[in-house]
Amino acid sequence: MQLVCLDLEGVLVPEIWIEFAERTGIPELRRTTRDEPNYDTLMKYRLNLLKQHKLGLPDIQQVISDMGPMAGAKDFLDALRRDYQVIILSDTFYEFAMPLMAQLNMPTLFCHKLEADASGFLVNYHLRMPNQKMEAVKRFKEINFQVIAAGDSYNDTAMLAEAHAGILFHPPQNVIDEFPQFPVTMNYAELRVEIDKASQRI
Ligand SMILES: [Mg+2]
Repeated sequence: MQLVCLDLEGVLVPEIWIEFAERTGIPELRRTTRDEPNYDTLMKYRLNLLKQHKLGLPDIQQVISDMGPMAGAKDFLDALRRDYQVIILSDTFYEFAMPLMAQLNMPTLFCHKLEADASGFLVNYHLRMPNQKMEAVKRFKEINFQVIAAGDSYNDTAMLAEAHAGILFHPPQNVIDEFPQFPVTMNYAELRVEIDKASQRI
């Protein structure tokens, strides 16, 4: 029994914080873990910024809904789900991702959770567990799935390594250089070919 695990941002939908910063004109929201390595500090900073700009969850979800998935993502995923069981593993939050999931025919998504107060402002975030992408793949293997995983960036490489087959999708050059063991795909047609090849091999 085979299972395909896909990263979300950079594979099926845009980088949510970056795209959100563009659309709302709040450049401070472009700050990432490269600028602020402490994730908790970064998240509290982001949630504070949203509140300062009076952006509650319904406003945020409207902006995210307008982003839409990446071109071709829905057709790729629909076709993939006809032939494989697919689970999306992401470090985003359900409250952010759901407007985009609705546009992707509601695939299964494992990610994290945000907490809003009564007036809709985000006050906290809850990570389900650390390294959840890799841990999920490990658990799927324990219940006898053969796992093919695909992702675009550094934070996917532990998941890719844990899977029976790992595939990079449109990754930055430094990830290509540092992880030559993973095949590199640059569009959905290539990704589908690599998934089918891996499926034959594992
Ligand atoms: Mg990604």
